[in-house]
Amino acid sequence: MENVIIIGTGCAGYTAAIYTGRANLKPLILSGSMPGGQLTTTTEVENFPGFPNGIMGPELMMNMQTQAEKFGARIEYATVESVAKTADGHFDIKTEDGSVRQARAVIIATGASPKHLGLPNEKGLIGHGLTSCATCDGAFYRNVPVCVIGGGDSACEEAMFLTKFASKVYLIHRRDTLRASKIMADRALANPKIEPVWNSAVTEYLTDDKGEMRAVALENLVTGEKSELELRCVFVAIGHVPNAAFLGGLVDRDENGYILQTRGTRTKTEGLFAAGDVADHVYRQAITAAGQGCAAALEAERYLAEQGVH
Ligand code: NAP
Repeated sequence: MENVIIIGTGCAGYTAAIYTGRANLKPLILSGSMPGGQLTTTTEVENFPGFPNGIMGPELMMNMQTQAEKFGARIEYATVESVAKTADGHFDIKTEDGSVRQARAVIIATGASPKHLGLPNEKGLIGHGLTSCATCDGAFYRNVPVCVIGGGDSACEEAMFLTKFASKVYLIHRRDTLRASKIMADRALANPKIEPVWNSAVTEYLTDDKGEMRAVALENLVTGEKSELELRCVFVAIGHVPNAAFLGGLVDRDENGYILQTRGTRTKTEGLFAAGDVADHVYRQAITAAGQGCAAALEAERYLAEQGVH
């Protein structure tokens, strides 16, 4: 039986591991399908305190992993399928390979996954000109036009990164102003390679005879005008879905699926804590996720102490 299992290896999960590790609880971390979380798909992180010159996202996550392991955290590369609370008060955590691990307390730090538009052919196009990760795939699209869909900080960041490779980056947004922070929006709109396409929705992904992305069909949401835009890759940056569905009725969720915390990082199930983007639809920053990971670790430690585990 583990004292505490942490599900997820983003900023929240690793911070929870550092704190529970230093508290001698020997945490076990289950990595999930995207070890290191969302920051592994980003480039430079400029706003994480302590790095005045910025730090690359993947390097920051490697540092957190090393720090967690230094204090005794163990990492297993496994994706959790379900969590159940047993009659005697511990948790059974079943992973996709069918094995079950047991823990006295669980910290959910599973983050959120990128959303897609829901167009009919999108599943088959992933890897053939459709992606949500500029850092991962941008370099494959040199000297060709691409687009980013969305108007938030992610869309601006992706668009700016893509200007290193693409001949042109269309920024397709459904309104005529960006949601992004002013500094990001100003930078993106000042970049000569980025061309905004305002008030527009992508209604279809159009492919060539090899099944690769060739163009998008657009509808102007103000005039109703329809058009096509030739490009080789679509980068979708329209927000995220929290990874909480596997918890079933153990937690309450809001209308968008984010876990509702009760006091601090507690959930409605005793011994089950939630931290980071899986429970935060407001701030969604690396540093706020790390802060919640710390809080969840302290609360789990107190919970375990009440159960006689020190
Ligand atoms: P976001 O702020 O929620 O923006 C999502 C964008 O996608 C919005 O512009 C939204 O349009 C659009 N959108 C949503 N659903 C759509 C649909 N079905 N079709 C077309 N467009 C759709 O998400 P985000 O940009 O991923 O940012 C998430 C959080 O992370 C934010 O708090 C952000 O500040 C933070 N972040 C920070 C940085 C940084 O500081 N370096 C970088 C990335 C992200 P509307 O505007 O019309 O709603």
